[in-house]
Amino acid sequence: MKTICQSCGMPLLNHNRAVEQGTFLSGRYCDKCYDNGCFIDRDLSIDDMKKIGLTHIKKSKDLSGLRRAVMLVYYPLMLKRLDRWTPGSK
Ligand SMILES: [Zn+2]
Repeated sequence: MKTICQSCGMPLLNHNRAVEQGTFLSGRYCDKCYDNGCFIDRDLSIDDMKKIGLTHIKKSKDLSGLRRAVMLVYYPLMLKRLDRWTPGSK
């Protein structure tokens, strides 16, 4: 099982892990990205996801200034390595 969502990069916990085909926990995606066997927003591009993620990081009150700065740099790099945005990984 993955520890971060392979679409948006958010930490995966049991309560936000998306359901695959109605029975199994997918283990790969969170419930904001994936539901019942498919992506919720199928037309989303990696650039769209990057914008959403960076906005979320900028607004997050849980991050200190330094951690936020690190996340803003790290997030786009991390996104590129996730299964959803890596051609051929299924
Ligand atoms: Zn996600």
